[in-house]
Amino acid sequence: MSGAILIHPAVDHGLMPAAKEFSGGTLVCKCAQNPVKVTVTGQIAHDHACGCTKCWKPAGATFSVVAVVPRDNLRVTENENKLAIVDPNATIQRYACTGCGVHMYGRIENKSHPFYGLDFVHPELFQESGWAPPEFAAFVSSVIESGVDPSRMGAIRDRLKGLGLEPYDALSPPLMDAIATHTAKASGALPH
Ligand SMILES: [Zn+2]
Ligand SMILES: [Zn+2]
Repeated sequence: MSGAILIHPAVDHGLMPAAKEFSGGTLVCKCAQNPVKVTVTGQIAHDHACGCTKCWKPAGATFSVVAVVPRDNLRVTENENKLAIVDPNATIQRYACTGCGVHMYGRIENKSHPFYGLDFVHPELFQESGWAPPEFAAFVSSVIESGVDPSRMGAIRDRLKGLGLEPYDALSPPLMDAIATHTAKASGALPH
């Protein structure tokens, strides 16, 4: 089977550039009535396509699109009572809408985690445009765990490169370096 390689609706037609004046916006779930709304202040960072099995992705998408914001910049502003944590034991506590299943944000409560202080969001849920586009693709091999035939991986990586999203099977080298640096400082292998 050939067929188009669909990565994610927000990137399949090319990346939309960030707007210089983007100062945040509102993430809205897919419920027709009483949607959950989350207000984010400021631009997102480290936006990327993610192939892991834990991120929420829309129907038909192979990857999620996920970015981070400082947790102090994120506030649930409407219908917070519809949110529930998908897996309380996961490192990232993903708050999903119990009405439509969309993940509204993910939060790390472990203060020693390298990414503590950052919340994960799916920027396609912004009702505004102008958010920073994805910069790379993470955990690409993991899409196989969602049922993608391994024989399609070459075409998927080619498509990601064509979109300007360098494919990595973990996070990008700068983020992997940041995690390792955090670990080395915690262990004393590097000075604080
Ligand atoms: Zn919803
Ligand atoms: Zn993911």
